Amino acid sequence: MTQPSHGVTLASIYRARANLVGQVVRTPLIRSQALSRRFDAEVFLKLENHQPSGAFKLRGATHMIRTLIQQHGPDALARGVTTASTGNHGRAVALAASNLGVPAVICLSRLVPDNKARAIEALGAEVRRVGNSQDEAFGEVARLVDEQGMTLIPPFDDPLIASGQGTIGVELLEDQPELDRVFVGLSGGGLLGGIGAALKAIRPATRVTGISLAQGDAMWQSLQAGRPVEVDEVESLGDSLGGGIGLDNRCTFALVNEVMDDHYPASEAAIARAMVAMLADEKMLVEGAAAVGLAALDEHAIDIRGQRVALIVSGNGVALETFDRARALAKSD
Ligand SMILES: *Cc1c(COP(=O)(O)O)cnc(C)c1O
Repeated sequence: MTQPSHGVTLASIYRARANLVGQVVRTPLIRSQALSRRFDAEVFLKLENHQPSGAFKLRGATHMIRTLIQQHGPDALARGVTTASTGNHGRAVALAASNLGVPAVICLSRLVPDNKARAIEALGAEVRRVGNSQDEAFGEVARLVDEQGMTLIPPFDDPLIASGQGTIGVELLEDQPELDRVFVGLSGGGLLGGIGAALKAIRPATRVTGISLAQGDAMWQSLQAGRPVEVDEVESLGDSLGGGIGLDNRCTFALVNEVMDDHYPASEAAIARAMVAMLADEKMLVEGAAAVGLAALDEHAIDIRGQRVALIVSGNGVALETFDRARALAKSD
């Protein structure tokens, strides 16, 4: 078989899996009693909120940094790695780099709250404050790469990153070989693309359902348009699903196009209800992006009766004030 243009294959995912043993948590897949009863199905939760950085992004970041060290020698990353992200990707790069003894600089705009910056510093990275927008922070990343020889670790659009996230798909089928369907939050597409590539290679009958924000859903709009498009960013309880896919996307647009079977949007009210249900019924405090599978099941009355279904609980990066906002919205709805 020829190598697909996006570069993500079962072989690349198994390489990631071997590379991640002992480096990240092999998270549990637990059966939810409450959700199984509610939807008259076998509902399982894949607990990526248990990764020590708080989200699955530790997989891709760790795989990429380790691979670069293996390919180019221990000094290859002596000048450090960098990215611009306030959220789970910044935390993942900070922790992965510090675990692997590589310096990391995370560039943040001056508008990012201090508590988020401190959380990244606590994971062992240097935080650099630049400008008043995410774009200006990215400008500094580009400068660090061009002028100081640092290495960019992108949040999703790279075969190493998507293959790292794809190890979740391999684990799902190890724990539930007859899985009928998986619900995955969709933003840049590293998570869904990686998981989908694993499932389609090992068990093609497993249906891959993507869920994005109802507004600012860059990947879905790009798929509709047949090419990457820009969308306006909107504030959301599922903030980890915001942001574009890059007009020069080279990996995840083609990958998601190939492996996603169907797609639903999740409204703010449905995300709010799902976050509250995750705490009330599962005793888990999770971020909005990690609750969109449940949100879509509820909002669109998706029929999963009698099926074995997995929801990817992708991360726990939620401030208590944000959870309070979700709770108020769920109540008023
Ligand atoms: C990044 C992220 C996603 C989406 O992953 P993509 O690879 O960008 O599609 C979903 N949930 C959480 C918690 C995330 O941090």
